[in-house]
Amino acid sequence: APAALKRISATIWELPVSYKQGMLVPARIIATEKLINAMDAGVFEQVSNVACLPGIQKYAFCMPDGHWGYGFPIGGLAAMDPDTGVISPGGIGFDINCGMRLVLTTLTYEEVKPRLRELVDALFYRVPAGVGSHGFVRLSHDEFCRVAEQGSSWCLKHGYAWPEDLEMTEEHGCFTGADATKVSQRAVDRGYNQIGTLGSGNHYLEIQVARPENIFDEDTARAFGITVPNQVVIMFHCGSRGFGHQVATDYLQLFLSVMEKKYGIRTNDRELACAPFRSREGQDYFAAMKCAVNMAFANRQVILHRIREVFSDVFGRDPRDLGMDMVYDVAHNTAKLETHLVDGKKRELLVHRKGATRAFGPGMEGIPARYRETGQPVIIGGSMETGSYLLAGDPGGGDTFFTTAHGSGRTMSRHQAKKLVKGQKLQRDMEERGIYVRTASWGGLAEEAGHAYKNIDDVAEATELSHLSRRVARLVPIGNVKG
Ligand code: 5GP
Ligand code: MN
Ligand code: MN
Repeated sequence: APAALKRISATIWELPVSYKQGMLVPARIIATEKLINAMDAGVFEQVSNVACLPGIQKYAFCMPDGHWGYGFPIGGLAAMDPDTGVISPGGIGFDINCGMRLVLTTLTYEEVKPRLRELVDALFYRVPAGVGSHGFVRLSHDEFCRVAEQGSSWCLKHGYAWPEDLEMTEEHGCFTGADATKVSQRAVDRGYNQIGTLGSGNHYLEIQVARPENIFDEDTARAFGITVPNQVVIMFHCGSRGFGHQVATDYLQLFLSVMEKKYGIRTNDRELACAPFRSREGQDYFAAMKCAVNMAFANRQVILHRIREVFSDVFGRDPRDLGMDMVYDVAHNTAKLETHLVDGKKRELLVHRKGATRAFGPGMEGIPARYRETGQPVIIGGSMETGSYLLAGDPGGGDTFFTTAHGSGRTMSRHQAKKLVKGQKLQRDMEERGIYVRTASWGGLAEEAGHAYKNIDDVAEATELSHLSRRVARLVPIGNVKG
């Protein structure tokens, strides 16, 4: 860590504005001592670059699962003044609205175990994974644009959702203001046949168990629908596929061409290309980004539809009877206008979360009535070998604009991870430990081994100690479909 790094509290570490020329606010990294000591050096450089972006308020943040990313660190958080600040695709990520969805069942581990292979194999065939995979939903380009503007409500109209699924999705599964005329033909070409697909790499569909010894807060777990010992749940992680990637690529290019020449903005890193939020370019990107956000919500909704079909087929019961309700769907790559208290005053801010999850606390507007007392559910992955967490928004999260981690975060590059382990061997080892995994790519599987990620228990603990979110349940994997 840089010598200038100051410890502010047990879990807050700060680089002051004197650390780097051009910093408008200090940069803060949220981590325990153990996590800060192991923190990727790229994080300090990147989060202090973010602190130089026009209009940034209070602090540039990095979450405890942070590591090097494109422009912003993964785990990056920056709130801009919408009138004087910028919007930056690097603060949102290429996989716009990558996110996590958690679904309940009333089944127990004992009931699922004998059918596990059959179940995972069926999911592997019915939820396409891998680079460039195609979904079963056939759409014209025009219809796809309606999906991009409507998100989950398109799914409801077309029989891919239960009405209550929308209530259990961040923003009801639709960012308003999406405008498909701001999206390139190339983006539509890449996305129109990808609804209902998982994608590659770290995207996954996992069958998990909530063991009684892993429940941290029984009341909240019950409020979130975890009521039976060894209850089986399904967690999946994916985003806007090639569509979002193309939207980000298009606007990064546009921003690079206007940022300095037209708006006189300079950044420390080309990857932080940005435009004034209120500019024509900024607003166009905002409207296009929302299309990718909505496409990702629809993608996860159609995948849920397929999961319900598979469970229904394998167990010969109706998905309603199997209790396949959503706990929640959270986005971790977005920018959104939200109202927050800044120095005691209510202000509208453009909140960039890149590999960071919104974690609204109890009583806040914008979360389902069912969760008003507990705070919103927060779903974070760990790894396919170790475990994942269900957290809840903490009332003390105001300083970080009610934001928390999104996973454990990588500790080594994909390349390094692949050198250490072979995919086939990993699959056999995992099966011996009771985790049945199917993958679209052996190389991809090797890149995702548990040792490639930080310890999820450390990250979840750090979020709790720093009041970003509270631990509710640790979930262990038994089956996994890997992209
Ligand atoms: P990202 O959004 O940065 O691509 O990844 C989110 C997080 O998901 C990673 O930081 C990692 O902790 C977690 N993750 C990646 N692969 C898996 C998996 O197969 N299973 C689980 N449970 N978590 C995973
Ligand atoms: Mn993603
Ligand atoms: Mn993600």
